[in-house]
This record gives sequence, structure tokens and C-alpha cells, in this order.
Amino acid sequence: MTDGPSYGFDTLQIHAGAKPDSATGARQTPIYQTTAYVFRDADHAAALFNLQEVGFIYSRLTNPTVQALAERVAALEGGAGAVCCSSGHAAQIMALFPLMAPGRNIVVSTRLYGGTVTQFTQTIKRFGWSARFVDFDDEDAVRAAIDDDTRAIFCESIANPGGYITDIPAIAAIADAAGLPLIVDNTSATPYLCRPIELGATLVVHSATKYLTGNGTVTGGVLVDSGTFDWSASGKYPSLSEPEPAYHGLKFHETFGPLAFTFHSIAIGLRDLGMTLNPQAAHYTLMGIETLSLRMARHVENAVRVATWLESDPRVDYVTYAGLDSSPYKSRMPTVCPKGAGALFTFAVKGGYDACVKLIDAVEIFSHVANLGDTRSLIIHSASTTHRQLDENQQRAAGAAPELVRLSIGIEDPDDLIADLDQALARATA
Ligand SMILES: *Cc1c(COP(=O)(O)O)cnc(C)c1O
Repeated sequence: MTDGPSYGFDTLQIHAGAKPDSATGARQTPIYQTTAYVFRDADHAAALFNLQEVGFIYSRLTNPTVQALAERVAALEGGAGAVCCSSGHAAQIMALFPLMAPGRNIVVSTRLYGGTVTQFTQTIKRFGWSARFVDFDDEDAVRAAIDDDTRAIFCESIANPGGYITDIPAIAAIADAAGLPLIVDNTSATPYLCRPIELGATLVVHSATKYLTGNGTVTGGVLVDSGTFDWSASGKYPSLSEPEPAYHGLKFHETFGPLAFTFHSIAIGLRDLGMTLNPQAAHYTLMGIETLSLRMARHVENAVRVATWLESDPRVDYVTYAGLDSSPYKSRMPTVCPKGAGALFTFAVKGGYDACVKLIDAVEIFSHVANLGDTRSLIIHSASTTHRQLDENQQRAAGAAPELVRLSIGIEDPDDLIADLDQALARATA
């Protein structure tokens, strides 16, 4: 099924990118556990290596199972093309790689997954890149942070850990006016809740480790390109607009048009950085995506139930879920994520740090893990774990204050989740 865009989401999540196997008729996408592919003849091999013909050469670049997943996520996000990567963090580096060079910077939201903060503050410096952290609720500050060396703007649709909703159309307008691509990490929303490309994003990145696979079995990532950005307009993106020496002076944007970014990511990015997804992992993620809409609807329904119950409980100070009327971010739901504000949020326990630690030890259904987006409900106390190295002011700025517990609400019976939190709060605040 390749002519997908007219199909609905629930059809695409099952069929996009997949067709009965041409060799055997196998209905489910086979796991093509192979490193290499036999060339028809010497001319065929030469054409593939010259990018004159599209086909399979070597699984660091492309693999049929992995390709099916890339096409499915591209269809669900409304993109022109996609590339699968070995993790969400790999997808982020792969998104920046064609855009950046030593001395260039990105303007990024302060509200990001903790690992992304570390990647952007520490690791990318080794490439000579830098990130400028800005409060994305302050549009003037975003504009002011952009300079001649800025090459991209980066944010999350529904941001970790508090579930803050980014005003993507407003940020996209700023990026457009500056002639810059907007990269949106859509991990915690998924394309079921939020479609960043329709809201003006150029690139979308995913940690497929989370809701796309959905049950905590895989580490993977996906990078989707809208195909709409003019990489040749400003001269700022020579990797895409100028002759590529490793391919006889081929210009990616001129040659591949809306697929330039995708082809560059495979032919240069995967070839030389090697952040490739393996076919077994792609298979698990394809299986997960088949039920994405059903799971996300239930994740959201449960999150609303649990957050509403917590907010009314006297042992709880406040809840940060954007799906609650009390949230300043709820007004952004109709435009950014009309089907729900996700299932990730924090709540403040009366009794502070000590009560939080007791609560974590008292829960029975919730699992104490550093992950999110699982069918299982998950809990973590950031201040004593992921944000342990920070001082209290830094913890507060990151949304990981000592009195906050983060929940990733699963798809179990919501009454059981509430009962579990009820008994754990009783023991934690006794
Ligand atoms: C987990 C996560 C990542 C990193 O993904 P990995 O697959 O763990 O590399 C990036 N962004 C968000 C929002 C995440 O939740």
C-alpha cells in the first residue's frame, strides 16, 4: 500500500509501508535478517552505488523490514520520507547532522527530555555545535536567540516531564520568518495525538522506544522529513544544496527534491554515522504501531482519570497534567493535540522528598523505572534518580523539584491504578 494519504489513521497504522511479501506472499512483514543483497549484474550494482537507482545494497543503509517501518511512520506523520535510527537520541543527531557545521548553533526549548538536555549541553559541543536554551512560551526570547549561525529550532510537542504543550504554530512562524527548519520531538504525543508537520514543523523525531513500540521491548528512533523546506534558498545548508564530493558532485536538493533530506540521511548519515535500526527491532515497532490509536486513546483516558483523582486528593499539592482545566496549557490542546494531552505528568506530594521516596517504594502496580510510554504504568522520582546530580534550583527549573513524582500512565484498569496510588499515598504520608 503506497498511495496511502487518503486513508484514515487507523488504516495507515496497519497497512502503510507493508504489502504481502513478493517472494512468499507472507502477509505480515517478514524480518529480513540479512546484511547484504545480491545485485542483478554489474550494471545494477553500479547504478545503486551511484544513487541512479533505488534498491538494497547493505543493511547499514537500507533493509526491507526497516524500510516498511520508515514508510509507515512517514505516512502517519504526513511526511515525504523517513529514516529509522538505532535510538531516539540517534534520530536527533541524524536530524542535526545535515544542517550543522562547527560554529553553528540551534535554539532549543528548556523543556526537554533529560537525556536531550545532556546531549545538547555537553556532547554536541564536541562537534563544535552549540544549543541555546530558551523558554518557548516567550516568543520574543526565541526570536532574540536566533543569529546568523543558527541552523535549526528544536522543541518537544508535549514536553517531558510535566506534559507542557508547545505552541507549535507560533514557533513554526518564528522559524519560517528566520528561514530555519523547525524540528519537533513528537515522542510523548505520537502522530495520533499531534501532527507537527501539519502545524508547520520541517522535521519530526521520535524515540520509537516509547509509545510507537509501546511495551518497553525496543530501543529505536525515527526521523521524518516533511519534504517542504527549501534547502537551497539561503545557502545555509550546503550539505543538501551544494555538490557532494562522495557522489561525483551530486546535489541532493536539486536531484531528489522533497526527498533530499531522506536520501542524504541514508546515503551520507547512515552510511557514515552508522546509527542503523536492526530489522528485529523494526518488526517489534511495526507490530506496536498496528494498535497505536487504540493504546493512545486508552493512555489518555486513564491519564485524565488518574490526574483528576490526584488533583482532588488532600495529600497532593498540585498536578501538572495539561489535560486538566487547571493547566495553563489546556488552551493549546485544540490546535496542538486535539485528541488528548498524552499520559505523562508530574504531581507534588505533600511531605516533599521523603514522602516521594516512600511513595515510590509503596506502589505495587506502578513500576519504578527510567522509561515512559509503556502499556504498564511507570513511576519515577526524578530528584533522587535522573536529576540527582543537580542542585535544588536546577531541579526546579527542569520540572524535577524534590516534591514531584513523574507518572507514565499505562493502559491497565484505571480503578486499579487509582487504588494503588491511594494505598501508596497513605503509607507515604502516614
Ligand atoms: C526517550 C526519549 C528520547 C531518547 O530516546 P532513546 O530511544 O532513549 O534514545 C528523546 N526524547 C524523548 C521525549 C524521549 O522520551
